[in-house]
Amino acid sequence: MSFLEIKNFDIKNFTTIKIGGIVEKALLPSNKEGILEVFDIIKKSGKNFFILGGGSNVVIKDDLTGFYAIITSKLDYYKIEDNTIICGAGLKTSLFCEISLDNSLSGSEFLYGLPGSIGGAVFMNARSYGFSISDIIESVDVYDYENNSFLSLKSSECEFGYKNSIFQKRPYFISEIKFKLTRGDFNEIKEKMNYFKKDREEKGQYVFPSAGCAFKNNYDIGIPTGKIIDELGLKGMVFGGVKVYEKHANFLVNTGNATYEDYINAVSYIKRAVKNERGIDLECEVIFLP
Ligand SMILES: Cc1cc2nc3c(=O)[nH]c(=O)nc-3n(C[C@H](O)[C@H](O)[C@H](O)COP(=O)(O)OP(=O)(O)OC[C@H]3O[C@@H](n4cnc5c(N)ncnc54)[C@H](O)[C@@H]3O)c2cc1C
Repeated sequence: MSFLEIKNFDIKNFTTIKIGGIVEKALLPSNKEGILEVFDIIKKSGKNFFILGGGSNVVIKDDLTGFYAIITSKLDYYKIEDNTIICGAGLKTSLFCEISLDNSLSGSEFLYGLPGSIGGAVFMNARSYGFSISDIIESVDVYDYENNSFLSLKSSECEFGYKNSIFQKRPYFISEIKFKLTRGDFNEIKEKMNYFKKDREEKGQYVFPSAGCAFKNNYDIGIPTGKIIDELGLKGMVFGGVKVYEKHANFLVNTGNATYEDYINAVSYIKRAVKNERGIDLECEVIFLP
């Protein structure tokens, strides 16, 4: 079977923030043939759709009537060739780091503990501890679902920038990624990975459901967005089921029964406050779907 189809799929439980409705169908391709098949189903159905990796950077509407979702989690294959790892977009990012470790390959340590899939991380050009995933990418294979063709893009063609990539601008379904790593010492790699994961644990990132940072940092301003929100005294502020996290003001967490609307209200309030008090226009990092 090259894809799996699940009717009335509850998106909420698939996301890290636990917000979202039920899609009529979730389609989960497991190889390139499956990707072609699911896009064919969508075209024939005339339905709208959205793509989900690990659901860790998205806030999804509560009413998804008329929508299908393509979920990448079955595209989780990988192969290792010398210092490169080639993997499907649905491979979990932390699992990718563990595979690198098992093969004494260094370069991906900073990603350990990052929720979600490799494909989602590439789409977002995920970044942590001073490194971006684009630093270790050799090429990305995509399916262009408007022109019905597979393409292979070199890293230099992916228009990677701070939390930005060509994939946010084009009708591309990321299918496979090739990473270039370097040979390293098993124990040193393991130590670095554990350091990064422990740091996230100590910052309380996994305590409440969240979608990570709500807003991008603006490096021209030079102050992290979380610090700006904190300075305005907004930590702990509640918007229905959404709270500005006391441990990290850029994290908007679900305290129980948060809705899409609660999250939007929180974002709008913070944006307005930061604009009024500091004259800064915040840009959202989370993606609102559909
Ligand atoms: C506790 C926590 C900590 C976090 N820390 C960080 C951090 O340090 N740095 C950071 O950058 N982010 C961080 N994030 C955000 C998030 O984990 C990352 O951006 C992650 O890489 C997103 O991957 P995902 O698979 O979950 O993407 P999703 O949330 O599923 O999707 C994100 C976007 O990518 C698109 N997409 C996903 N897969 C594909 C595909 N195969 N083809 C085309 N489009 C696709 C989706 O349509 C969506 O628009 C954090 C989140 C949480 C919850």
